[in-house]
Amino acid sequence: MSGLCRQVLRVGARAGLRLQSHSAASSKAKAGQEGHGYNFELNDQQKEFQATARKFAREEIIPAAPHYDKTGEYPVPLIRRAWELGLMNTHIPETCGGLGLKIFDTCLITEEIAYGCTGLQTAIEANSLGQMPVIIAGNEQQQKKYLGRMTEEPLICAYCVTEPSAGSDVASIRTRAEKKGDEYILNGQKMWITNGGKANWYFVLARSEGDPGVPASRAFTGFIVEADTPGIQIGRKEINMGQRCSDTRGITFEDVRVPKENVLIGEGVGFKIAMGAFDKTRPPVAAGAVGLAQRALDEATKYALERKTFGKFLAEHQIVSFMLAEMAMKVELARMAYQRAAWEVDQGRRNTYYASIAKAFAGDIANQVAADAVQIFGGNGFNCEYPVEKLMRDAKIFQIYEGTAQIQRVIIAREHIGKYKQ
Ligand SMILES: Cc1cc2nc3c(=O)[nH]c(=O)nc-3n(C[C@H](O)[C@H](O)[C@H](O)COP(=O)(O)OP(=O)(O)OC[C@H]3O[C@@H](n4cnc5c(N)ncnc54)[C@H](O)[C@@H]3O)c2cc1C
Repeated sequence: MSGLCRQVLRVGARAGLRLQSHSAASSKAKAGQEGHGYNFELNDQQKEFQATARKFAREEIIPAAPHYDKTGEYPVPLIRRAWELGLMNTHIPETCGGLGLKIFDTCLITEEIAYGCTGLQTAIEANSLGQMPVIIAGNEQQQKKYLGRMTEEPLICAYCVTEPSAGSDVASIRTRAEKKGDEYILNGQKMWITNGGKANWYFVLARSEGDPGVPASRAFTGFIVEADTPGIQIGRKEINMGQRCSDTRGITFEDVRVPKENVLIGEGVGFKIAMGAFDKTRPPVAAGAVGLAQRALDEATKYALERKTFGKFLAEHQIVSFMLAEMAMKVELARMAYQRAAWEVDQGRRNTYYASIAKAFAGDIANQVAADAVQIFGGNGFNCEYPVEKLMRDAKIFQIYEGTAQIQRVIIAREHIGKYKQ
């Protein structure tokens, strides 16, 4: 049954693409002109993925999420189910057995899963983040070996860049890679690695250049590292403010031998690969933040239509209805921001500016909307028997990981001002 589900979605994905191009061709013929202008309508394939993810979130994730939040257990049954439904690994190319979905389509799925629980969504998204360097920079053998196995069973991978002394300032990382014959020897410590204790393999960024004067663009190398390689020590699971079922750990590399076949592209280009992945992963992270914000808005609205004070429903007090209106404005605009960022990169255009706008804006509004939802719930909002306190705790990380809110502004300012200097 589960194999069938994946097969149906895969066939649907291909058929959807054919349908889309067929209808695009016929409407172009009808209009007798190039281009179609704006179109906010999802195609049949996108609607199908969205509906599958929505049903999964409402029926399976939401009932289970409080348990995983309380215990911090890694949600293995939900991850397995997401994999069976074809809602994980959606970027993996068809040549490796994947669905080869566009970033836009993946974002639609991500938003729905995040609506259910962003702890689960982060585990799934970090898997995509680990895969992305291999998708954008892996050769055929590397892709078939490391991405292919993820389509055969629900395996997990992780992206290992951050270190205890360097997060935003990636160029300051200290993990070293030294070439010895046909191998590289890795030594160093990574921190805050999502899926760190669950991964089958890691993308690892290490400094391969000894000369500190060499610029970052030539000083680092990206490796694929099997998680069971001797010398890898996995730290304890970190207890975080929110998204508690997501597995975050430190990882130590001590004389870890990596064959040269596992270098992505070549020595010295790792920084570009590691940073380039974000153009494709920040839109889904923003979509996750929107899913959380939409959930907060829905919960707050339902509550405002049930709870009475001073003889009226909360929603009938103008100030509460205006809070809901503000929350709705933020959710709608953040959704458009991630869709634009995803669409740009799907057109093959550099989307760094849009990806950072989406990530920064959605991360901020997720926090504002979740906090407003808690406010609308009053005392109940502060209590873990109601859903919104989890949303408020879960929201914070969207302003920290995959580039903090401040770093996104640094990027947006650089991209924006750069246009005026040309
Ligand atoms: C739960 C969780 C999961 C994570 N998952 C992963 C993962 O899977 N893989 C991975 O590699 N990393 C991961 N990270 C790491 C994450 O990306 C970093 O925490 C983040 O990039 C910030 O780095 P930092 O913690 O070192 O903070 P710092 O870089 O020390 O920043 C501290 C503060 O200073 C601000 N700041 C820093 N520099 C500037 C500047 N130039 N201008 C303005 N403000 C600045 C920051 O915005 C922040 O507010 C994860 C982190 C967490 C908490």
